Amino acid sequence: NSNRQDRDREVNVQVLLRCRPLSDDEQRLNIPKVISCNEQKREVTVLQSIANKQVDRAFTFDKVFGPKAQQRSIYDHAIFPIVNEVLEGFNCTVFAYGQTGTGKTYTMEGGMKTKGGGELSAQAGVIPRAVRQIFDTLEAQKADYSMKVTFLELYNEEITDLLAPDEDSRSMDDKQKKPISLMEDGKGGVIVRGLEEEVVYSASEIYNLLERGSAKRRTADTLLNKHSSRSHSVFSITIHIKEATIGDEELIKCGKLNLVDLAGSENISRSGSREGRAREAGEINKSLLTLGRVINSLVEHSAHIPYRDSKLTRLLRDSLGGKTKTCIIATISPSVNCLEETLSTLDYACRAK
Ligand code: ADP
Ligand code: MG
Repeated sequence: NSNRQDRDREVNVQVLLRCRPLSDDEQRLNIPKVISCNEQKREVTVLQSIANKQVDRAFTFDKVFGPKAQQRSIYDHAIFPIVNEVLEGFNCTVFAYGQTGTGKTYTMEGGMKTKGGGELSAQAGVIPRAVRQIFDTLEAQKADYSMKVTFLELYNEEITDLLAPDEDSRSMDDKQKKPISLMEDGKGGVIVRGLEEEVVYSASEIYNLLERGSAKRRTADTLLNKHSSRSHSVFSITIHIKEATIGDEELIKCGKLNLVDLAGSENISRSGSREGRAREAGEINKSLLTLGRVINSLVEHSAHIPYRDSKLTRLLRDSLGGKTKTCIIATISPSVNCLEETLSTLDYACRAK
């Protein structure tokens, strides 16, 4: 089947660029904008003048979303087809990559709370919309399925379970549980030991779990300054769908969707420019650096893909490369004050294509 062969050769990495609007404060202060987005040409231009000479730089992506782009439009144009792949039995991953404050969490989570009747708000981001699409499709197909979700955080190469029961409601046994660890399953995947896997039956159940997990992230943020900007969160949905029964055999297709809100990209770009801090920053974000290398190796069809070099890439190994689809949403600010970080985000995102 030539279609299948095409699929094997294809590199399924898509890179989108989203520029947020200036905030109310930035507008009040009249902060100059240095970004111009052309959605038709899929182009972002950085307007820069050096020594009175205009030296604009243009970058092209698979899709570009300017400051006026709505959550729904990004979802419908970029994420909807990916979630369909998951429902066809493939593993897919969506990453939000960018400087802290540029809209990664807004893009992935947005307003997660639903209005009455379970209707999504206009602010709802990728995660609640994906959950909605999955349940709507399965219900329309009257599918026989089962679903489980995990929600974890990676900080300094250590995994925290965002769905674990609260400390005070846990028994002594639970509190003495070993830290969460990764084990290869021998089939190219990884088993996360000690992680809660919640079996879910409805979209509203998932929304409640998400709310619980993000509340945990917010608490961690107030306890430790910059925690969330240095940590990655990974929300995963695994779906088993029964396709047919042949004799006693059940034919099951299994797809997994990973939705990843990455640590702030300033954690790695600084390490590049300031040698002295490289080690420290590298330790803070080994996973972010390795992810870049893994994606570059995939795009360049290298023989060796360095999955094993970080926890994040080990965790996502069965959902990166091969027959999987990967989408990176790079987020930037239009403000002149972010210019340096914006350029490094654009460079990183361009290299991933
Ligand atoms: P990050 O997760 O990258 O640190 P956030 O998602 O927290 O950034 O966004 C920072 C602030 O900007 C938040 O108040 C968020 O609501 C706002 N924001 C980000 N992107 C947009 C957007 N496209 N439209 C409107 N507000 C946005
Ligand atoms: Mg965030």
